[in-house]
Amino acid sequence: MDGKALAERVRAEVAKDIEELGRPAGLATVLVGDDPASEIYIKRKQEACREVGIEPFDHHLSAETTEEELLALVGELNADDRVTGILCQLPLPDQIDEDRIIRSIAPIKDVDGFHPFSAGHLLQGSPTFVAATPAGIMEILREYEVELLGARAVVVGRSNIVGKPMALLLLAEHATVTICHSRTRDLAAVVREADVVVAAVGRAGMITGDMVREGATVVDVGINRVEGKVVGDVAEDVRGRAGLLTPVPGGVGPMTIASLLRNTVKAARYQAGVLAFPLD
Ligand code: NDP
Repeated sequence: MDGKALAERVRAEVAKDIEELGRPAGLATVLVGDDPASEIYIKRKQEACREVGIEPFDHHLSAETTEEELLALVGELNADDRVTGILCQLPLPDQIDEDRIIRSIAPIKDVDGFHPFSAGHLLQGSPTFVAATPAGIMEILREYEVELLGARAVVVGRSNIVGKPMALLLLAEHATVTICHSRTRDLAAVVREADVVVAAVGRAGMITGDMVREGATVVDVGINRVEGKVVGDVAEDVRGRAGLLTPVPGGVGPMTIASLLRNTVKAARYQAGVLAFPLD
């Protein structure tokens, strides 16, 4: 399943949406410290913004930034009308309480969808902003017409940013969902039952061919650096078993960025009043 090609189409749609909106949209990106991977992600997100007509506002703070300093910056961004969406790149340095920062972002600007307000609305089936990675995966599954109604779906990983929202989105499409994690007994047996597998662990090649039912749809979220190469959580030999498979790179990654852009358009619509934002 070609996430790169789909993402290109989504970006073209977003560019049109932004033009039609007729008012400027801006995405504030906040990066604390000098993690090279985070720097690459931020750069890609900013480039994607520019391409579709969203203005990126770059905030790169030192690794020594305190929690209070970061809270003050988020407060300024919340109040700034030029800033449609706020993205705080994770992970944050140890001296900063990540959850507290996430909670400080105005829910109407929470384009990452990590705020408990956004997560709660997703849980209750009336989403505002859905986390970009699982949202992008749902778009890939729709594009390839993967049957979810009544399907058995297994999500490996239970993080707040990928695994849990992924499971909720599959459930909303009427899949029968199982969530696996590091304490799951006999992971292979559980995964083997699945029509749709989403691997979001962060361990190179942990889903192997013998764990995958013939013809199953496999989504590889993992980003692992092995000997200078980026590989997913899904081993090479799954290719011969899966009916449909997302590659790494070129699968979930590009769609994550495309979904972030879609969320920024949604934020702009909420803020323009053309879409009603649910009051908390
Ligand atoms: P986390 O580290 O937050 O979560 C990993 C999950 O995997 C945890 O729930 C953990 O279980 C589970 N796990 C760990 N070991 C095992 C095991 N042996 N068997 C079963 N489950 C296991 O990671 P994220 O959710 O943030 O990210 C997952 C992967 O996706 C990473 O490689 C990350 O880089 C990638 N990613 C890719 C994105 C993209 O755009 N393509 C975006 C976001 C993430 P437990 O809860 O019990 O510890």
